[in-house]
Amino acid sequence: MKAEINLSKGRTIFHGMNTRSGTIFDIKRFAVHDGPGIRTTVFFKGCPLNCWWCHNPESQNPESEPILLPNVADTEIVGKTVSISELMEEIRKDIIFYDESGGGVTVSGGEPLMQPEFLETLLTYSNKEKIHTAIDTTGFGPLEVIKSLVGKIKLYLYDLKFINDEKHQVYTGVSNTSIIKNLKYLDSMKETVIIRIPIIPGVTDTKTNIKDLGTFISSSLQTIDKVNILPYNRLGEGKYPRLNRPYRFANQLATPSDKELNRIKNEFETYGLGVQIGG
Ligand code: SF4
Repeated sequence: MKAEINLSKGRTIFHGMNTRSGTIFDIKRFAVHDGPGIRTTVFFKGCPLNCWWCHNPESQNPESEPILLPNVADTEIVGKTVSISELMEEIRKDIIFYDESGGGVTVSGGEPLMQPEFLETLLTYSNKEKIHTAIDTTGFGPLEVIKSLVGKIKLYLYDLKFINDEKHQVYTGVSNTSIIKNLKYLDSMKETVIIRIPIIPGVTDTKTNIKDLGTFISSSLQTIDKVNILPYNRLGEGKYPRLNRPYRFANQLATPSDKELNRIKNEFETYGLGVQIGG
């Protein structure tokens, strides 16, 4: 292993440890809604879910794919393979901002758990270089993968949509069994988890669903009690025709009002949870 010492704060930077690579579709620098401080968010490509409201439909296919450019009869390729060295080089660019703001790197997607080896390598490098690590995950995947990540991730932003499995299957295409099992495991390990609930009007914000979620979090989890509610937005709608896919909520839903979001926040708070609107 070849290592260099970065004299700033005695941080060690590792080069040439391996050449493993993964597929990503975006990197967002100076992100402020994906965990504490200023962060670099890396978007892994590939998601096992197919949520009706997904605003990153280009994240779902694990392979790189063509997408039409907006307002032009031409395509570009979304998704690229990057080596861990290339990715760490990009992440290191903002180390000074992470240090000053308490930020770091957030791995998002798509679903990062779909590329477990690359994810683990990225976390290992980041931890060795003292870069704070967070993951934005659906929690869908084998428990063994979740177990292998414990101790390597400082903060989990964990999506939860429905407790009712039939509804989960209808609106996401998969069962929530592993999602709930994995969340209970992280809870038992006392990992730092914030649950993120997408507020989709008439779908996830029903009285029954809020009651199911509130009851589950407050009574089946021992240590996790923080919830972010994320309002539906239509930002991704225009990408569907560019990917030649149907958008199942086309012209049906509006972004929830502040009043409505506050009502939902208050409902969750009745379960003793710490609730924040937005991420
Ligand atoms: S889990 Fe997220 S990325 Fe995956 S389909 Fe649902 S909204 Fe899209």
